[in-house]
Amino acid sequence: MAIANSNYGKLQTSYLFSEVSKRIRTFKVSHPNVNVISLGIGDVTLPLPSAVITALHKSVDEMGDITTFRGYGPETGYEFLINEIIVNDYNSKGIYFATDEIIISDGTNCDISNFQELFDRDNIVAITDPVYPVYLDTNVMAGRSGIYNSSTGKWSDIVYLPCTRENKFIPEIPKKKVDLIYLCFPNNPTGTVLNREELKKWVDYAIENNSIILYDSAYEAYIAEENIPHSIYEIEGAKNVAVEFKSFSKSAGFTGTRCAYTVVPKEINLDSDSGKLNLNDMWSRRQTTKFNGVPYIIQRAAAAVYTNAGKKQIKDNIDYYMENAKIIISALDSIGIEHYGGINAPYIWLRAPNDMESWDFFDKLLLEANVAGTPGIGFGPSGKGYFRLTAFASHENTIEAMSRIKKLKL
Ligand code: PLP
Repeated sequence: MAIANSNYGKLQTSYLFSEVSKRIRTFKVSHPNVNVISLGIGDVTLPLPSAVITALHKSVDEMGDITTFRGYGPETGYEFLINEIIVNDYNSKGIYFATDEIIISDGTNCDISNFQELFDRDNIVAITDPVYPVYLDTNVMAGRSGIYNSSTGKWSDIVYLPCTRENKFIPEIPKKKVDLIYLCFPNNPTGTVLNREELKKWVDYAIENNSIILYDSAYEAYIAEENIPHSIYEIEGAKNVAVEFKSFSKSAGFTGTRCAYTVVPKEINLDSDSGKLNLNDMWSRRQTTKFNGVPYIIQRAAAAVYTNAGKKQIKDNIDYYMENAKIIISALDSIGIEHYGGINAPYIWLRAPNDMESWDFFDKLLLEANVAGTPGIGFGPSGKGYFRLTAFASHENTIEAMSRIKKLKL
Protein backbone atom coordinates (compact mmCIF):
# COMPACT_ATOMS: atom_id res chain seq x y z
CA MET A 1 0.00 0.00 0.00
CA ALA A 2 1.38 3.37 -0.99
CA ILE A 3 1.36 5.85 1.86
CA ALA A 4 1.44 9.60 1.32
CA ASN A 5 3.97 11.99 2.82
CA SER A 6 1.75 13.20 5.66
CA ASN A 7 3.60 16.52 5.81
CA TYR A 8 1.66 17.57 2.72
CA GLY A 9 -1.47 17.26 4.82
CA LYS A 10 -0.04 19.81 7.27
CA LEU A 11 0.51 22.52 4.62
CA GLN A 12 -1.65 25.58 5.10
CA THR A 13 -3.56 26.47 1.94
CA SER A 14 -2.06 29.44 0.15
CA TYR A 15 -4.79 31.69 1.43
CA LEU A 16 -3.13 34.98 0.53
CA PHE A 17 -3.18 35.16 -3.25
CA SER A 18 -6.38 33.15 -3.69
CA GLU A 19 -8.19 35.42 -1.23
CA VAL A 20 -6.81 38.53 -2.96
CA SER A 21 -8.08 37.32 -6.36
CA LYS A 22 -11.41 36.25 -4.85
CA ARG A 23 -12.03 39.69 -3.35
CA ILE A 24 -11.06 41.44 -6.62
CA ARG A 25 -13.31 39.12 -8.65
CA THR A 26 -16.26 39.71 -6.31
CA PHE A 27 -15.74 43.47 -6.50
CA LYS A 28 -15.59 43.39 -10.30
CA VAL A 29 -18.86 41.45 -10.54
CA SER A 30 -20.69 44.15 -8.60
CA HIS A 31 -18.75 47.01 -10.30
CA PRO A 32 -18.33 45.83 -13.91
CA ASN A 33 -17.40 49.27 -15.25
CA VAL A 34 -14.72 50.08 -12.70
CA ASN A 35 -11.07 49.76 -13.75
CA VAL A 36 -9.22 48.12 -10.85
CA ILE A 37 -5.46 48.82 -10.95
CA SER A 38 -3.23 46.20 -9.38
CA LEU A 39 -0.11 47.29 -7.52
CA GLY A 40 0.03 43.78 -6.10
CA ILE A 41 1.87 42.13 -9.00
CA GLY A 42 5.11 40.38 -8.04
CA ASP A 43 5.96 39.70 -11.67
CA VAL A 44 7.85 41.82 -14.19
CA THR A 45 5.77 43.42 -16.95
CA LEU A 46 8.31 44.82 -19.44
CA PRO A 47 9.29 42.53 -22.35
CA LEU A 48 12.67 40.79 -22.57
CA PRO A 49 15.56 43.12 -23.52
CA SER A 50 16.33 43.12 -27.25
CA ALA A 51 19.87 41.75 -26.65
CA VAL A 52 18.24 38.68 -25.08
CA ILE A 53 15.76 38.30 -27.96
CA THR A 54 18.58 38.51 -30.53
CA ALA A 55 20.54 35.80 -28.69
CA LEU A 56 17.42 33.65 -28.51
CA HIS A 57 16.77 33.94 -32.27
CA LYS A 58 20.38 33.12 -33.09
CA SER A 59 20.48 30.08 -30.83
CA VAL A 60 17.12 28.81 -32.12
CA ASP A 61 18.64 28.89 -35.63
CA GLU A 62 21.66 26.94 -34.33
CA MET A 63 19.30 24.26 -33.07
CA GLY A 64 17.88 23.89 -36.61
CA ASP A 65 21.26 23.30 -38.21
CA ILE A 66 22.90 19.86 -38.06
CA THR A 67 26.34 21.39 -37.56
CA THR A 68 25.34 23.44 -34.50
CA PHE A 69 22.45 21.41 -33.06
CA ARG A 70 22.78 20.51 -29.33
CA GLY A 71 21.14 17.69 -27.43
CA TYR A 72 21.57 17.16 -23.70
CA GLY A 73 23.90 19.77 -22.31
CA PRO A 74 25.98 19.70 -19.13
CA GLU A 75 23.41 19.31 -16.32
CA THR A 76 24.98 22.05 -14.24
CA GLY A 77 25.24 24.58 -17.05
CA TYR A 78 27.31 25.58 -20.09
CA GLU A 79 30.68 27.15 -19.35
CA PHE A 80 29.97 30.10 -21.66
CA LEU A 81 27.27 31.26 -19.19
CA ILE A 82 29.10 30.25 -16.01
CA ASN A 83 32.19 32.21 -17.10
CA GLU A 84 30.10 35.35 -17.73
CA ILE A 85 28.58 34.99 -14.26
CA ILE A 86 31.95 34.55 -12.57
CA VAL A 87 33.55 37.50 -14.38
CA ASN A 88 30.65 39.95 -14.17
CA ASP A 89 28.89 39.09 -10.92
CA TYR A 90 31.91 38.07 -8.81
CA ASN A 91 35.38 38.88 -10.20
CA SER A 92 34.20 42.49 -10.59
CA LYS A 93 33.83 42.52 -6.78
CA GLY A 94 37.13 40.76 -6.09
CA ILE A 95 35.39 37.40 -5.47
CA TYR A 96 36.69 34.27 -7.21
CA PHE A 97 35.00 30.93 -7.93
CA ALA A 98 35.84 27.84 -9.92
CA THR A 99 33.36 27.05 -12.69
CA ASP A 100 31.92 24.06 -10.82
CA GLU A 101 30.96 26.25 -7.86
CA ILE A 102 28.26 27.95 -10.01
CA ILE A 103 25.35 25.69 -10.88
CA ILE A 104 22.83 26.88 -13.47
CA SER A 105 19.16 26.06 -13.05
CA ASP A 106 15.68 26.97 -14.22
CA GLY A 107 14.86 29.19 -11.25
CA THR A 108 15.68 30.25 -7.73
CA ASN A 109 12.30 29.01 -6.61
CA CYS A 110 13.20 25.41 -7.51
CA ASP A 111 16.77 25.74 -6.24
CA ILE A 112 15.94 27.13 -2.84
CA SER A 113 13.04 24.67 -2.53
CA ASN A 114 15.18 21.69 -3.46
CA PHE A 115 18.29 22.69 -1.56
CA GLN A 116 16.83 21.86 1.84
CA GLU A 117 16.78 18.15 0.92
CA LEU A 118 20.58 18.11 1.36
CA PHE A 119 20.06 18.60 5.10
CA ASP A 120 18.97 16.18 7.78
CA ARG A 121 15.38 16.46 8.95
CA ASP A 122 16.46 17.42 12.46
CA ASN A 123 18.09 20.70 11.49
CA ILE A 124 16.51 23.74 13.15
CA VAL A 125 15.32 26.23 10.54
CA ALA A 126 15.16 30.01 11.01
CA ILE A 127 13.21 32.27 8.68
CA THR A 128 12.70 36.00 8.68
CA ASP A 129 9.11 37.09 9.30
CA PRO A 130 7.44 38.32 7.06
CA VAL A 131 8.87 36.03 4.40
CA TYR A 132 8.68 34.77 0.81
CA PRO A 133 6.47 31.71 1.56
CA VAL A 134 8.51 29.06 -0.30
CA TYR A 135 11.20 28.67 2.40
CA LEU A 136 8.64 27.74 4.99
CA ASP A 137 6.41 25.53 2.85
CA THR A 138 9.27 23.40 1.56
CA ASN A 139 10.45 22.78 5.12
CA VAL A 140 6.90 21.85 6.11
CA MET A 141 6.90 19.32 3.24
CA ALA A 142 10.20 17.93 4.52
CA GLY A 143 8.86 17.51 8.07
CA ARG A 144 10.96 20.18 9.80
CA SER A 145 8.15 22.50 10.89
CA GLY A 146 6.42 20.74 13.79
CA ILE A 147 2.83 21.73 14.53
CA TYR A 148 0.93 24.75 13.22
CA ASN A 149 -0.75 27.03 15.74
CA SER A 150 -3.58 28.84 13.97
CA SER A 151 -3.95 31.46 16.69
CA THR A 152 -0.32 32.64 16.42
CA GLY A 153 0.13 31.71 12.75
CA LYS A 154 3.41 30.01 13.70
CA TRP A 155 4.93 26.51 13.44
CA SER A 156 6.28 25.02 16.66
CA ASP A 157 9.71 23.96 15.32
CA ILE A 158 10.48 26.98 13.13
CA VAL A 159 12.47 29.87 14.60
CA TYR A 160 10.92 33.16 13.47
CA LEU A 161 13.11 36.24 13.09
CA PRO A 162 10.69 39.19 13.19
CA CYS A 163 11.47 42.10 10.85
CA THR A 164 9.34 45.06 11.84
CA ARG A 165 9.67 48.82 12.14
CA GLU A 166 10.68 48.28 15.79
CA ASN A 167 13.94 46.63 14.72
CA LYS A 168 14.22 48.60 11.46
CA PHE A 169 13.56 45.34 9.56
CA ILE A 170 16.92 43.95 10.67
CA PRO A 171 16.53 40.37 11.93
CA GLU A 172 18.07 39.79 15.34
CA ILE A 173 20.41 36.90 16.05
CA PRO A 174 18.21 34.21 17.69
CA LYS A 175 18.65 33.16 21.31
CA LYS A 176 18.09 29.53 20.38
CA LYS A 177 20.79 27.90 18.23
CA VAL A 178 19.67 27.42 14.63
CA ASP A 179 21.19 25.33 11.83
CA LEU A 180 19.70 26.61 8.58
CA ILE A 181 19.08 30.33 8.16
CA TYR A 182 17.08 31.70 5.24
CA LEU A 183 17.96 35.32 4.46
CA CYS A 184 16.57 37.29 1.51
CA PHE A 185 18.02 40.73 0.79
CA PRO A 186 16.86 42.96 -0.81
CA ASN A 187 13.78 41.53 0.81
CA ASN A 188 10.48 40.40 -0.59
CA PRO A 189 8.04 41.55 0.79
CA THR A 190 9.48 44.45 2.84
CA GLY A 191 11.84 45.85 0.19
CA THR A 192 14.44 46.46 2.91
CA VAL A 193 18.17 45.59 2.85
CA LEU A 194 20.97 44.61 5.22
CA ASN A 195 24.14 46.66 5.24
CA ARG A 196 27.58 45.08 5.40
CA GLU A 197 27.83 45.27 9.22
CA GLU A 198 24.46 43.60 9.74
CA LEU A 199 25.12 40.85 7.22
CA LYS A 200 28.52 40.24 8.85
CA LYS A 201 26.77 39.48 12.15
CA TRP A 202 24.94 36.60 10.43
CA VAL A 203 28.04 35.25 8.74
CA ASP A 204 29.90 35.38 12.08
CA TYR A 205 26.99 33.65 13.80
CA ALA A 206 26.97 30.90 11.16
CA ILE A 207 30.74 30.39 11.51
CA GLU A 208 30.50 30.17 15.30
CA ASN A 209 27.52 27.81 15.30
CA ASN A 210 28.31 25.64 12.25
CA SER A 211 25.11 26.89 10.63
CA ILE A 212 24.43 27.37 6.93
CA ILE A 213 22.97 30.57 5.46
CA LEU A 214 20.74 30.14 2.41
CA TYR A 215 20.99 33.62 0.90
CA ASP A 216 18.31 34.55 -1.64
CA SER A 217 19.61 37.42 -3.72
CA ALA A 218 16.87 37.50 -6.38
CA TYR A 219 16.60 41.33 -6.18
CA GLU A 220 20.32 42.19 -6.08
CA ALA A 221 20.10 44.12 -9.36
CA TYR A 222 17.84 46.69 -7.66
CA ILE A 223 20.41 47.75 -5.05
CA ALA A 224 21.05 51.47 -5.46
CA GLU A 225 22.63 52.58 -2.18
CA GLU A 226 26.27 52.41 -1.11
CA ASN A 227 27.40 50.02 1.66
CA ILE A 228 24.77 47.43 0.71
CA PRO A 229 26.50 44.16 -0.18
CA HIS A 230 25.65 42.83 -3.65
CA SER A 231 26.74 39.34 -2.65
CA ILE A 232 27.08 37.60 0.71
CA TYR A 233 30.61 36.61 -0.37
CA GLU A 234 31.66 40.23 0.07
CA ILE A 235 31.66 39.31 3.77
CA GLU A 236 34.80 37.61 5.06
CA GLY A 237 34.31 33.95 5.86
CA ALA A 238 31.01 33.63 3.96
CA LYS A 239 32.44 31.02 1.60
CA ASN A 240 32.58 28.66 4.59
CA VAL A 241 28.93 29.02 5.55
CA ALA A 242 26.77 30.52 2.78
CA VAL A 243 25.02 29.38 -0.37
CA GLU A 244 23.84 32.19 -2.67
CA PHE A 245 20.80 31.95 -4.94
CA LYS A 246 20.53 34.35 -7.88
CA SER A 247 17.91 34.60 -10.57
CA PHE A 248 17.61 36.29 -13.97
CA SER A 249 13.85 36.62 -13.31
CA LYS A 250 13.61 40.04 -11.75
CA SER A 251 16.83 41.50 -13.14
CA ALA A 252 16.39 40.56 -16.81
CA GLY A 253 12.69 39.74 -17.04
CA PHE A 254 13.18 35.94 -17.12
CA THR A 255 10.16 35.04 -14.96
CA GLY A 256 8.62 33.16 -17.89
CA THR A 257 11.92 32.29 -19.61
CA ARG A 258 13.45 30.58 -16.52
CA CYS A 259 17.12 30.78 -15.69
CA ALA A 260 18.97 31.19 -12.40
CA TYR A 261 22.09 29.98 -10.64
CA THR A 262 23.20 28.82 -7.22
CA VAL A 263 26.69 29.33 -5.81
CA VAL A 264 27.87 26.48 -3.60
CA PRO A 265 31.44 27.11 -2.43
CA LYS A 266 33.65 24.03 -2.20
CA GLU A 267 34.78 25.05 1.30
CA ILE A 268 31.55 23.83 2.94
CA ASN A 269 31.68 20.35 4.49
CA LEU A 270 28.92 18.95 6.69
CA ASP A 271 28.86 16.21 9.29
CA SER A 272 26.61 13.23 8.63
CA ASP A 273 26.17 9.62 9.70
CA SER A 274 28.14 8.74 6.56
CA GLY A 275 31.04 10.98 7.62
CA LYS A 276 31.91 14.43 6.24
CA LEU A 277 30.05 15.37 3.08
CA ASN A 278 30.95 18.24 0.79
CA LEU A 279 27.98 20.50 0.07
CA ASN A 280 29.09 21.37 -3.45
CA ASP A 281 29.49 17.65 -4.30
CA MET A 282 26.06 16.97 -2.81
CA TRP A 283 24.28 19.69 -4.82
CA SER A 284 26.08 18.67 -8.02
CA ARG A 285 25.12 15.06 -7.41
CA ARG A 286 21.53 16.06 -6.72
CA GLN A 287 21.25 18.21 -9.85
CA THR A 288 22.99 15.78 -12.20
CA THR A 289 20.70 13.01 -10.95
CA LYS A 290 17.37 14.82 -10.82
CA PHE A 291 17.73 17.63 -13.39
CA ASN A 292 18.87 17.57 -17.00
CA GLY A 293 19.90 21.16 -17.37
CA VAL A 294 18.50 24.43 -18.68
CA PRO A 295 17.89 24.54 -22.46
CA TYR A 296 20.84 25.74 -24.57
CA ILE A 297 18.80 28.58 -26.07
CA ILE A 298 17.83 29.88 -22.62
CA GLN A 299 21.42 29.81 -21.41
CA ARG A 300 22.45 31.74 -24.55
CA ALA A 301 19.69 34.24 -23.74
CA ALA A 302 20.99 34.56 -20.17
CA ALA A 303 24.57 35.07 -21.39
CA ALA A 304 23.33 38.01 -23.52
CA VAL A 305 22.41 39.75 -20.25
CA TYR A 306 26.16 40.31 -19.76
CA THR A 307 26.81 41.99 -23.12
CA ASN A 308 27.15 45.78 -23.09
CA ALA A 309 23.78 46.15 -24.82
CA GLY A 310 22.17 43.65 -22.42
CA LYS A 311 23.52 45.44 -19.35
CA LYS A 312 22.24 48.80 -20.59
CA GLN A 313 18.78 47.46 -21.47
CA ILE A 314 18.43 45.72 -18.12
CA LYS A 315 19.42 48.87 -16.29
CA ASP A 316 16.82 50.84 -18.28
CA ASN A 317 14.10 48.35 -17.28
CA ILE A 318 15.10 48.44 -13.62
CA ASP A 319 15.18 52.26 -13.74
CA TYR A 320 11.66 52.16 -15.16
CA TYR A 321 10.37 50.07 -12.26
CA MET A 322 12.26 52.12 -9.70
CA GLU A 323 10.75 55.31 -11.13
CA ASN A 324 7.40 53.74 -10.22
CA ALA A 325 8.72 53.09 -6.72
CA LYS A 326 9.56 56.82 -6.45
CA ILE A 327 6.04 57.75 -7.59
CA ILE A 328 4.55 55.46 -4.94
CA ILE A 329 6.85 56.75 -2.18
CA SER A 330 6.23 60.41 -2.96
CA ALA A 331 2.44 59.87 -2.97
CA LEU A 332 2.60 58.00 0.36
CA ASP A 333 4.73 60.81 1.83
CA SER A 334 2.22 63.40 0.71
CA ILE A 335 -0.57 61.71 2.67
CA GLY A 336 1.54 60.80 5.68
CA ILE A 337 1.56 57.01 5.27
CA GLU A 338 4.56 55.36 6.92
CA HIS A 339 6.50 53.27 4.40
CA TYR A 340 9.69 51.25 3.99
CA GLY A 341 11.66 49.71 1.11
CA GLY A 342 11.30 50.90 -2.48
CA ILE A 343 14.88 52.27 -2.61
CA ASN A 344 16.88 49.07 -3.24
CA ALA A 345 13.96 46.83 -4.20
CA PRO A 346 10.76 47.00 -6.28
CA TYR A 347 8.62 46.52 -3.15
CA ILE A 348 7.14 49.19 -0.89
CA TRP A 349 6.03 47.98 2.53
CA LEU A 350 3.65 50.35 4.19
CA ARG A 351 2.03 50.60 7.55
CA ALA A 352 -1.76 50.62 7.20
CA PRO A 353 -2.94 53.99 8.59
CA ASN A 354 -4.81 54.36 11.88
CA ASP A 355 -3.72 50.91 13.08
CA MET A 356 -5.94 49.25 10.50
CA GLU A 357 -5.54 45.52 9.93
CA SER A 358 -3.92 44.47 6.64
CA TRP A 359 -7.13 43.02 5.18
CA ASP A 360 -9.25 46.04 6.23
CA PHE A 361 -6.81 48.29 4.39
CA PHE A 362 -6.96 45.96 1.38
CA ASP A 363 -10.77 46.31 1.31
CA LYS A 364 -10.64 50.08 1.74
CA LEU A 365 -8.18 50.48 -1.15
CA LEU A 366 -10.17 48.17 -3.38
CA LEU A 367 -13.62 49.59 -2.62
CA GLU A 368 -12.75 53.28 -2.36
CA ALA A 369 -9.72 53.72 -4.65
CA ASN A 370 -10.17 50.65 -6.87
CA VAL A 371 -6.54 49.74 -6.31
CA ALA A 372 -5.35 46.26 -5.30
CA GLY A 373 -2.24 45.49 -3.24
CA THR A 374 -1.16 42.63 -0.97
CA PRO A 375 -2.00 42.41 2.76
CA GLY A 376 1.19 42.07 4.79
CA ILE A 377 -0.27 39.55 7.22
CA GLY A 378 -0.28 37.03 4.35
CA PHE A 379 3.55 36.93 4.49
CA GLY A 380 3.72 35.95 8.15
CA PRO A 381 2.58 37.00 11.62
CA SER A 382 4.92 40.02 11.71
CA GLY A 383 3.25 41.37 8.56
CA LYS A 384 0.18 42.22 10.66
CA GLY A 385 -0.93 45.80 9.97
CA TYR A 386 1.39 46.14 6.96
CA PHE A 387 0.66 46.18 3.24
CA ARG A 388 2.80 45.56 0.13
CA LEU A 389 2.73 47.64 -3.06
CA THR A 390 4.92 46.74 -6.03
CA ALA A 391 6.66 48.84 -8.66
CA PHE A 392 5.98 46.44 -11.55
CA ALA A 393 2.89 48.13 -13.03
CA SER A 394 3.14 50.64 -15.92
CA HIS A 395 3.98 54.30 -15.15
CA GLU A 396 0.48 55.30 -16.22
CA ASN A 397 -1.23 52.82 -13.91
CA THR A 398 1.12 53.62 -11.03
CA ILE A 399 0.44 57.36 -11.36
CA GLU A 400 -3.31 56.81 -11.64
CA ALA A 401 -3.41 54.36 -8.72
CA MET A 402 -1.48 56.73 -6.45
CA SER A 403 -3.60 59.72 -7.40
CA ARG A 404 -6.67 57.68 -6.40
CA ILE A 405 -5.04 56.67 -3.10
CA LYS A 406 -4.16 60.31 -2.39
CA LYS A 407 -7.85 61.22 -2.58
CA LEU A 408 -8.85 58.63 0.05
CA LYS A 409 -10.18 59.77 3.40
CA LEU A 410 -7.86 58.05 5.83
N1 PLP B 1 13.09 34.52 -4.44
C1 PLP B 1 12.31 35.55 -4.14
C2 PLP B 1 12.56 36.30 -2.88
C3 PLP B 1 11.25 35.92 -4.97
O1 PLP B 1 10.47 36.96 -4.64
C4 PLP B 1 11.02 35.18 -6.15
C5 PLP B 1 9.90 35.50 -7.03
O2 PLP B 1 9.04 36.30 -6.79
C6 PLP B 1 11.87 34.11 -6.43
C7 PLP B 1 12.89 33.80 -5.56
C8 PLP B 1 11.64 33.26 -7.63
O3 PLP B 1 12.69 33.31 -8.53
P1 PLP B 1 12.64 32.46 -9.86
O4 PLP B 1 11.71 33.13 -10.82
O5 PLP B 1 14.06 32.44 -10.33
O6 PLP B 1 12.17 31.08 -9.52
